[in-house]
Amino acid sequence: MYIRFNAFHTGGFSTLVKSLRSRCIELLTEIEARLDFEDEMPPLDPVMLVSKINCMRKEVQDALDTSNYDKLLQSGLQIAIIGRPNVGKSSLLNAWSKSERAIVTEIAGTTRDVVEANVSINGVPVTLLDTAGIRETDDVVEKIGVKRSEAAAMGADLIVMAISAVDGWTDDDTKLMEHVSVNRKSSGSAVPMVLVINKVDCAPFVPGEQFKQFSGLFRKHVQTCAVTGKGISDLESAVIEVRGIEHVPSEGRRWTVNQRQFEQLLRTKEAFARLESSINEQLPMDFWTVDLREAALALATISGEDISEEVLSSIFSKFCIGK
Ligand code: GDP
Repeated sequence: MYIRFNAFHTGGFSTLVKSLRSRCIELLTEIEARLDFEDEMPPLDPVMLVSKINCMRKEVQDALDTSNYDKLLQSGLQIAIIGRPNVGKSSLLNAWSKSERAIVTEIAGTTRDVVEANVSINGVPVTLLDTAGIRETDDVVEKIGVKRSEAAAMGADLIVMAISAVDGWTDDDTKLMEHVSVNRKSSGSAVPMVLVINKVDCAPFVPGEQFKQFSGLFRKHVQTCAVTGKGISDLESAVIEVRGIEHVPSEGRRWTVNQRQFEQLLRTKEAFARLESSINEQLPMDFWTVDLREAALALATISGEDISEEVLSSIFSKFCIGK
């Protein structure tokens, strides 16, 4: 844990890569020594190995995540608030952005176009899109609004679907979800979704049978009262978690990975994943070394070093065997 913190947060990128590479070589040394001199060595503990690999995988993932920071900080995120009319979408947008951007009325279908408001979450600029209630309608103007809402929802980075605790999950919510699911499938996008159960000040939410069918589609469920703003901070936390923007360093950021480094880190990560399953599936140790070597090679490519000699000399210097 200490190494992880040290390498990722306080050191530069090259420190991290160096640390990962030397840990790979250390493991490779341990394994290859056992392949060559099995009788003379105590067996390796697979649990310890997997935990070390997991730790490295996490560090690689953290580094990979930095490649999104620049993009995130520049272009930000778009969040589409969808839901049937009158559940409180406009009120949510207003409460969230602490503004009166959207018109709130009791008359269903008031929001006929997409209304935008800006907020900042963990330093990331976020555009909230309040969409016209997506529903079957004969009103021509509202129809256009509905089409635009669908487009906004599909193009967003996250969809917040609002329902009302007063009505619970209704047939219209099911219809809307089916509609959105079809669109998500046809556009091939898997925009993550968060469910907001609004108006919890009026009634407790009772999840019925229909709701259970759909609840799994949402990465998070949040209860809110858009009139008082209660639950908005939970909604922000859900967005942070779902979009993985916990660690976006808006200031004092030391480094982000470039495309070339990204590709090699991805190669490293995939090699770690294969290695972990080889260990878990108890495949012969030869298999382990293939992936570990691949990871070490990818890391060495980033820093422009050669690992072949390193492993060999490490075996001899560490174990003094076979000399
Ligand atoms: P939209 O059509 O989904 O955008 O819904 P609106 O935001 O226009 O809200 C519809 C009505 O519900 C308005 O009268 C709001 O004041 C009311 N409303 C919205 N959110 C809440 C809430 O959390 N609690 C209560 N009690 N009323 C709410």
